[in-house]
Amino acid sequence: MKHVTILGSTGSIGRSALEVISRCRDRFKVVGLTAKNNIELLEEQIKAFNPEIVAVADETGALQLGKKLGIRVLSGDSGVAEVASYNKADFVLSAIIGFAGLFPTLSAVRAGKTIGLANKESLVVAGEIVMKDAGKAGAKIIPVDSEHSAIFQCMEGRSKEFVKRIVITASGGPFLGKRSSELNKVTIEDALKHPNWDMGKKITIDSATLMNKGLEVIEAHRLFGFSPDMIDVLIHPQSIVHSMVEFKDRSCIAQLSVPDMKGPIAYALTYPERLDDPMPFLDLTAVGKLTFQKPDTGCFPCLLYAYEAMKEGGTMPAVLNAANEVAVNGFMQNEIGFNDIPVVINNTMRLHERKPVVDIDTIVEADRWAREKAEDYINKVRS
Ligand code: MG
Repeated sequence: MKHVTILGSTGSIGRSALEVISRCRDRFKVVGLTAKNNIELLEEQIKAFNPEIVAVADETGALQLGKKLGIRVLSGDSGVAEVASYNKADFVLSAIIGFAGLFPTLSAVRAGKTIGLANKESLVVAGEIVMKDAGKAGAKIIPVDSEHSAIFQCMEGRSKEFVKRIVITASGGPFLGKRSSELNKVTIEDALKHPNWDMGKKITIDSATLMNKGLEVIEAHRLFGFSPDMIDVLIHPQSIVHSMVEFKDRSCIAQLSVPDMKGPIAYALTYPERLDDPMPFLDLTAVGKLTFQKPDTGCFPCLLYAYEAMKEGGTMPAVLNAANEVAVNGFMQNEIGFNDIPVVINNTMRLHERKPVVDIDTIVEADRWAREKAEDYINKVRS
C-alpha cells in the first residue's frame, strides 16, 4: 500500500490524481491533502479519502473547515509545509500552481520523499537548489508534466551520453496560426479555450502565449541536465506525441497517448510499474494524422524570453516566472491585453541585473523584485 499526499488537491491535477486513486483503493491510501482556499471541495475530498493530515493555505478557510468537520486543520505556509513533509507519506504529489508551490515542494524534497512533480515553477525558479537538495536528502523526483513524463519514459534504461537532443512538443494552444494583429483583441474566454487539454486557468493562458512551453524548456534543462542547445520545441497540434528523445545515431524515441493527465499522474504514482487503463486507449486510426511545425516566435515571443532566461541562468528564470505570473493575472483581471503579456515580461527582464543563486533567499528576493516591476509597468500602461 502506497501512502500518498497531494499538495494542491482541489486543482486540476489534484482532482485527476484522486480520480486515479479512487479506482485503485487497494494500492493507494491518501494520508495528506492541502488546498489553497476551495474548502467546499476539500471537505468532499476529506470525506471521501479520510486523510490523516490536512492543511489550508488560507487561514480563515482552515478555521472554518476545522470547525465544521471537528478536525484539526493546519493553516498557512507552515501548515502546508508540515503536510508536505508528513512522515507517513511515501509519495508526495506536488500540484500547487506557480511560485506558491516552491516551498511546499522543497519541504517534501528535504524530507526525502518520492515526489510526483507537477509544479514546474519550482524547477524553473530554483532548479539548482531543488535538485541539489533532492540529491542530499535522497528524494526522487518523477515528472508529472506530460512532456517531461514522456522524456523520462523515453530515457528509461538509456544513458544521457547517447542523447543528441530532446524535442518537447506543444499543442500551440487556441491561437495557433493567428497573426499578432489578430491577438490584440482576444478575450480571456478565447484564451481559456484550449483545444486538447483540460487544465487550470493559469496554465491554459500560459499555453496560449507559449510561455508554458518556455517554462517546460527550463524545467527539462533542470530536471534532466540537458544543455539549452539540446532542447528543441515543435508544435504538434494533435497532442498525441508528448515529447521525444533523439539519440546520437539519429534514432528518435517518442511517447504517445491520448492527451489525458491521468496517464502521467498514474505513471508517477506507480513507477516503475504501470497501472491498468488509467486513461482511454489511443486509437491512431481515429486521430488520422500527426503533424509538426516550428513555433512562431514572432507572434509568441514568450518562448524566446524563456530560452534567454535559461541561458542567462542565475536569478533570470525567477524574474521571467514572476513577471509572467503578474502579467497573466493582469490579463485575467482585464487590466492588460493578451499581447501585453510578453511586453510586461520582456520589460521586466530588461530591467533586471542577473545575480548568481546563492541560496533560496536570492530567489525570493528576485521574485519579489520582479513582481513589483511588472506591477509598476502594468499600472503605467493602464493610467
Ligand atoms: Mg506540459
